[in-house]
Amino acid sequence: MASNSLPRVAYFCMEYALQSDFKMYAGGLGILAGDYLKGAKDHKFPIVGIGIKWKQGYSDQQITAAGKAIDTYPIYEYPFLKDTGVTVSVTIRKREVKCKVWLCDKYGTAPLYLLDTDVPGNEDGWITGQLYGWFGEERIAQEMVLGIGGVKALRALNIPVDVYHFNEGHALFAGFELVREKVAKGNSFDDALAASRKEIVFTTHTPIIQGNESHYIDRLLYMGADNGVFNKGSLKKIGGSPFNMTVGALRMSKKSNAVAKLHAVTANKMWKNVKDRSEIIPITNAIHLPTWVDKNIVKAAQQNSNDIWKLHQANKKTLINFIYERTGVKLKQDALLIGFSRRAVPYKRSDFIFCDKSKVDKLFKGGQLQIVFSGKAHPLDDGGKRIVANIVALTKKYPKSVVFLENYDMTIGAMLTRGSDVWLNNPRRPQEASGTSGMKAAMNGVLNLSILDGWWPEACQHGVNGWQIGDGYENADEKALDEHDQKALYKVLLGEVLPTYYKDKKKWVEMMKQSVLTTHKEFAVKRMLEEYYEKLYQA
Ligand SMILES: *Cc1c(COP(=O)(O)O)cnc(C)c1O
Repeated sequence: MASNSLPRVAYFCMEYALQSDFKMYAGGLGILAGDYLKGAKDHKFPIVGIGIKWKQGYSDQQITAAGKAIDTYPIYEYPFLKDTGVTVSVTIRKREVKCKVWLCDKYGTAPLYLLDTDVPGNEDGWITGQLYGWFGEERIAQEMVLGIGGVKALRALNIPVDVYHFNEGHALFAGFELVREKVAKGNSFDDALAASRKEIVFTTHTPIIQGNESHYIDRLLYMGADNGVFNKGSLKKIGGSPFNMTVGALRMSKKSNAVAKLHAVTANKMWKNVKDRSEIIPITNAIHLPTWVDKNIVKAAQQNSNDIWKLHQANKKTLINFIYERTGVKLKQDALLIGFSRRAVPYKRSDFIFCDKSKVDKLFKGGQLQIVFSGKAHPLDDGGKRIVANIVALTKKYPKSVVFLENYDMTIGAMLTRGSDVWLNNPRRPQEASGTSGMKAAMNGVLNLSILDGWWPEACQHGVNGWQIGDGYENADEKALDEHDQKALYKVLLGEVLPTYYKDKKKWVEMMKQSVLTTHKEFAVKRMLEEYYEKLYQA
């Protein structure tokens, strides 16, 4: 299909992970957005990205000598960004906030426009200071810049758009600007809302209700987020009271998607009481292979070559050396190495493998089992920081076989998903939306050992291309769920993973090949983009 016959899409997202040191990202949402924009460029889809130029990005993580996680906020400069010459203004708290528009065209992506309030003469220059650094007023201000400023930027840049895609509810105020434009042209509010809805699609992410941000309507009004056209009544009608950004986006879009098939089931249940919302269909996330995957591994799998083992050993060696440089710990090449990196939140159960120490103590002490952890807590989440501190304490208990890499970023993510032998994921089902790190691992011949959550039920063939833990068991009683999953994890780890690794290398190598072959097309970004076009943009 010629690209000029496709709808032109503007994609809005709070974060983009394009390259490790370009600190415009925090985690999985940004990884998805970054891979999406790279895929759009590779496969010539008419897409532009809208985001924010963060002065400090997300916090950096440092582990103190006492084993505590602390956050630091260096200021970063990006001289490669191009000045578009465009500045738009958004009225926030009745003050005019200037937003300068930068073009980022460095990382092989479709054009990405980043808004920046850090310009001379702006009283509110810090709005684009820290990604997810604040809640309340500052978060609303950031979202007004992204949404309202983003639409104004597209107009000022003369970029024609057919579809506005909000990746997460953060971008919802872009919809408010679309409505305002139409009202300004003389349409009634209701007509403007209905017409705008036809232009908007929405991707929902977190299946955790608290993760779906809401704001008091009075505060939205105080901030000026009503954009001169909404009021208390219409805000309540769209987002409820308090105003929930996800609910608002579900009601202002013509179609929505969840990021895996299981997630669509969960999301539809979660929002079943929201009337007049768009349908939530599944479009499973995917990754940009050139960013994450060793192409020689894919080639070896396709040629059914046992060289895949040698290639993997080289990647594992690179990881072991990397860990040594960062931590001074030299892991063993010939012992099983498990990788685990996630944001530190309780439902991801980061130290789950240690929940019954009697089961694994000997193995970690004897060095048959090794594990490398990484992951940050949200800067305002003390509970998450305790999880990190727990893991750091375990590295002291098992100094030769348990390591923690501080300041999880794209470099660490790529290293771990190439060089580990096994990729462990043990969230409380069904709370993982998709999880793209497991896709990176799978395509690098790193075998997934995972709860059937997120994307994994769509790919898992137990004992063939990886392993599942827990048979899809769910229980709202967390204690019962944990007990069940704990047994399941040890059963598979001790009964299948370790014996295969140490006693049946032939099967292991076969599984590595299957891991690559069963995932590298299905979970490549091209498939995801085609589905977006077919099921969201053109629908
Ligand atoms: C891949 C990646 C993620 C997303 O992984 P999940 O599977 O969603 O945990 C997050 N952060 C970094 C740095 C990554 O490389």
